[in-house]
Amino acid sequence: MTQSSLPKPSIAIVGYGSQGRAHALNLRDSGFDVTVGLRPGGPTEAKAKADGFSVKAPAEAVREADLVAVLTPDMVQRQVYAEALAPNMKPGACLLFAHGLNVHFGMIEPRDDLDVILVAPKGPGALVRREYEIGRGVPCIWAVHQDPTGKAKQLALAYADGLGGARANLIETTFKEETETDLFGEQAVLCGGASSLVQAGFEVLVEAGYQPEIAYYEVLHELKLIVDLFYEGGITRMLEFVSETAQYGDYVSGPRVIDAGTKERMREVLRDIQDGTFTKNWVAEHEAGLPNYNRYKQADLDHPIEVVGKQLRAKMVWLDNSPKEQKEAA
Ligand code: NAD
Ligand code: MG
Repeated sequence: MTQSSLPKPSIAIVGYGSQGRAHALNLRDSGFDVTVGLRPGGPTEAKAKADGFSVKAPAEAVREADLVAVLTPDMVQRQVYAEALAPNMKPGACLLFAHGLNVHFGMIEPRDDLDVILVAPKGPGALVRREYEIGRGVPCIWAVHQDPTGKAKQLALAYADGLGGARANLIETTFKEETETDLFGEQAVLCGGASSLVQAGFEVLVEAGYQPEIAYYEVLHELKLIVDLFYEGGITRMLEFVSETAQYGDYVSGPRVIDAGTKERMREVLRDIQDGTFTKNWVAEHEAGLPNYNRYKQADLDHPIEVVGKQLRAKMVWLDNSPKEQKEAA
């Protein structure tokens, strides 16, 4: 259902990871001319070639492109833009991001002649590809930061349409709103909030003497059922499917765990995001070689829930435990 009235820019995708691969494949299947820009000999070059793309160094890939999508990790985008994109992009070309962080916090100040847009799928790359392949899509939010050519909006809509996002929903936003809500969502709820909630629930049960295997099924495994119901029909649908006892427990105990204090700390997290404290600390951490990041990650990997989880998941032979790269390529 690609709309024929929308423009068909030639596209260079820089970065071929979670988002880059999904965007490149969906856009090619939607009829766009796609080139992939990667460091020669980098870890994902072979994959992009195996998928049939013409792969060039970023500086070469962007030279002829009408639109350049920056899909490297956020912390290297500033350098990639300065070294490969700014000196080589065509006058009046379009620079696209899937997350507004670098532009919103001023780490990248794009050339005045470039259109600068955002198309952020609200889902991981593997899902962006899988949904497209089965004729569906992941909702996308889009924004225009600067529009010297007057074509920025149409380009954002064309790109989002090519990704399959228009099949689900497209919502206009700003770089500021996308950046701040995306960081807040992943920190307070999706990644940070959910993993800390699960770990704490597991610890409480195990410290009280219950079997770790049962604690694992209770607080981690069963979460999938709940999240699938949220996804299908919101909290309403979850309440329809759980028992009356579970509902009553939800009403009386949920607010004891997530109370006004939790909400106030969520606001502190949001303030740190809005005033740039989080991003300043993250840039410094990245520049220092990730000492704290690596320590925090190791602590998560060493948590007892991961030990018992590995054993229990081994019994569910149908689960896909392949490495991230293989899973995304499947
Ligand atoms: P990723 O880590 O999965 O992939 C990064 C890619 O960039 C890899 O191909 C890597 O080899 C390449 N790369 C790394 N350094 C490079 C360099 N110096 N020059 C050229 N290529 C380089 O990244 P990702 O998770 O897909 O994130 C890409 C962008 O998409 C980010 O802006 C991110 O915030 C955004 N985003 C990610 C998700 C997600 O679910 N992962 C969702 C929405 C938006
Ligand atoms: Mg994010």
